[in-house]
Amino acid sequence: MDQFMEHTIKLAANNVKEGGQPFGAALIKDGEVIAEGVNQLHVRHDVSGHAEMVAIRQAQKQLQTDDLSDMTMYASGEPCPMCYAAMSYAGIQTTYYAQSAEDAVDAGLGKSKQVALDLQKAPSERSYPMHHMPLTDDSHNPMQMYKKRHNQ
Ligand SMILES: [Zn+2]
Repeated sequence: MDQFMEHTIKLAANNVKEGGQPFGAALIKDGEVIAEGVNQLHVRHDVSGHAEMVAIRQAQKQLQTDDLSDMTMYASGEPCPMCYAAMSYAGIQTTYYAQSAEDAVDAGLGKSKQVALDLQKAPSERSYPMHHMPLTDDSHNPMQMYKKRHNQ
């Protein structure tokens, strides 16, 4: 295990000592920790307060960019679908994790695995289906407004 993974494991262990969940994450660029985070669900009502999300928010605020494609994510636990999506939006190319989603299930933290399995199902068979309600009035079409504004 390298120094950055050891760092995220320490973050996760300290978070458990402080009453939180066992997750820490760090974003690395050019051999340096640019941002880090721990799971914050024990201190604030924010379901997006996962360690990776906290690190991404911190890096983007600090550097004033959405593009983190030159960084590597180190996460103590296997990133959940939400964090995977955020890393994808941020362009993060490489991620390392130490403990698997199965390890989290074993610890009593099974929601991430449940969501990952849910996303493998057809949309109509998921636990939380999304219902398509198409526009009926094309005079206010945000997608077409955007297209006109940005694709001319
Ligand atoms: Zn997550």
